Amino acid sequence: MTTTNTIKGADVSMTTIKKFEDTFTQRDMLARKWKQEGRALMGWVCTYVPEEIIYAAGALPIRVLGGAQETPLADATLYSNACSFIRNCLEMGLDKRYDSLDGLVSVNTCDHIRRFFDVWTYHIPMPFKIILSVPTKVTENTIRFFTQELSRFRHSLEEFTGNRITIDSLRSAIGTYNRTRILLGKLYEKKKSLNPPLTGTQTLHTILAGMVMPKDQYNVLLEELLQEIETKGSGISQDGKLRLMVCGSELEHPEFLELIEQSGGLVVADDLCNGARYFWGMVDPEEEPLNALARRYLSRFPCPRMHPLESRVQYIVQMAQDFAVDGVIYEVIKFCDLHANTYPLIKKGLQEVGVPVLKLEREYLFSATGQLKTRIQAFFENISSARI
Ligand code: SF4
Repeated sequence: MTTTNTIKGADVSMTTIKKFEDTFTQRDMLARKWKQEGRALMGWVCTYVPEEIIYAAGALPIRVLGGAQETPLADATLYSNACSFIRNCLEMGLDKRYDSLDGLVSVNTCDHIRRFFDVWTYHIPMPFKIILSVPTKVTENTIRFFTQELSRFRHSLEEFTGNRITIDSLRSAIGTYNRTRILLGKLYEKKKSLNPPLTGTQTLHTILAGMVMPKDQYNVLLEELLQEIETKGSGISQDGKLRLMVCGSELEHPEFLELIEQSGGLVVADDLCNGARYFWGMVDPEEEPLNALARRYLSRFPCPRMHPLESRVQYIVQMAQDFAVDGVIYEVIKFCDLHANTYPLIKKGLQEVGVPVLKLEREYLFSATGQLKTRIQAFFENISSARI
């Protein structure tokens, strides 16, 4: 993996992107360092976990992600149709790669994540564990229910850390996280231009780093990145490249986007939980904090677990249009029933506005690149020839 993607007409290397890449690569070592500084480390597994509450307790929220090359330990404990993302996360836990964590925070997002929590907490005892029940609809009643869940979470964390989570500390955490959302929003806004400042690969590096480091430090780096982009002036020359959006299952391999970009595409938009779905939608700073958090997390850019599904289709179609994409690549991890089952509806919605879609089934680990490349290139040729 390189940081200097020389796309014809522009050298888009950036020193801040290198810092993001390094942070993500060295996340184990950095987590141990932050722990030595006296902060409890809380692992979270899904973007429906409101990190702000952990942050307000003085602890550091860190996303549990995969990274193992093989999964023999997890294979021995999980049923064969568990998705390879949670299988890989579990492997990392069983292999003691998350030993510095003080606890695990999960949600009932999908059956795979739900079982992951059970198996993890059975095999990897941790001082703190909690699973939150997230409603699948957005109504005033479900927001009230989720606010109560967050209140339970707040009290458990207070008890565990010995730190009071006050209204002021919650407001301050919300302010820090909203700042991240504003800065990432600015970045995505720039990606709408004819010459976007970053590739999709670089954008994924940027967002992954934010999930494993303190947000106040991350915000400083994001400001630096935006400044670097300003100073640089010119963006990436599209030079015949197709503008693309990537949607679907959990994706933490920048190599996947790099393959698309080396095949003649430029990823300008996404609907990924390590992308737009992570930061889209602000928390109202004026509302009572737990209520505001419940409202934002339930009504953010929806993942396919939320109902009605039409709302997700609308978000994706709107984004495809706003970012003027030529096509969408919809990637689905094998056995990820949520993303697989919603594909027909999303394909229909995109086709109604003239946006072609390619569905790629994959495993969590980045492999079968030759086959993927052939299918991506054929998709690009179809889009290009339909224009002639
Ligand atoms: S990739 Fe799909 S199946 Fe796996 S945890 Fe995510 S939503 Fe669930």
